[in-house]
Amino acid sequence: MSVDYDAPRVTPEEEPNVALEELKSDKSGRREAAPDLDETDLADSFELPGADLSNEELLIQVVPVQADEFTCMSCFLVHHRSQLAREKDGKKYCKECEG
Ligand SMILES: [Zn+2]
Repeated sequence: MSVDYDAPRVTPEEEPNVALEELKSDKSGRREAAPDLDETDLADSFELPGADLSNEELLIQVVPVQADEFTCMSCFLVHHRSQLAREKDGKKYCKECEG
């Protein structure tokens, strides 16, 4: 029977089912990906870096020394005032560095 070589095709009854399954998986996959969300995510990631840079510069200057803290001019770490061992020419040194 040479018909076997020439007819490996799927029977007409099975094709519609396969097409439906592909459509279903396609739809569910697209719902999870949510094209709209992707666009907003990209927009956010593009906008944030620029805003973060200016914020970080401000934070670096404001955060280090609190009212009850000082920056050791030897190890450049911020310590509590209780750790202040010596102050010379407006420069402060912690107990760890002076001890
Ligand atoms: Zn120190």
